[in-house]
Amino acid sequence: MDQIQIDIDQDDSAISNQAISLFVTVYINNKKQTDILDIDEFFQSIQDPGIYPLFTCDCGFFGCGGYYVHVTHDEQGYRLQNSYKPYDVWNKKNRIHTFQYLLDWHEIYLVGKKLIDLLNQLHKHDQSLDASSGMYGMNLISKISYYKHILGKLNDKLK
Ligand SMILES: [Zn+2]
Repeated sequence: MDQIQIDIDQDDSAISNQAISLFVTVYINNKKQTDILDIDEFFQSIQDPGIYPLFTCDCGFFGCGGYYVHVTHDEQGYRLQNSYKPYDVWNKKNRIHTFQYLLDWHEIYLVGKKLIDLLNQLHKHDQSLDASSGMYGMNLISKISYYKHILGKLNDKLK
């Protein structure tokens, strides 16, 4: 089984004093992954397998940087396979790296929990605050309850 950890940096947004930019660095087997995690795509990939623009540029624009990753689900865990160039449309011909990581569902739960706890904490501190993945990403605060719903379903599966 492979190991995942995250580090979260936060900064005042460059565009608004009512927003916080979150920079989530992912480590797999202690190796830092290029670019930052797109928090919204991460939660969607917990809900459904598929090809996701899972990593994005620091600025928050997928295409400027970032890459697609193929996510599959099975009993053993959450699997990340291969990275693909951040063009508008995913194509298997645009593969950058070939890899396969199998991550324990419980670790994925803990990563999700850490992200939700932070979003909750920011929201409690200041109700009018927005938060985004990277400098200019979409607002994540309005989706906290959706993320909780996804993580709750995962937690039920883990029992
Ligand atoms: Zn950028």
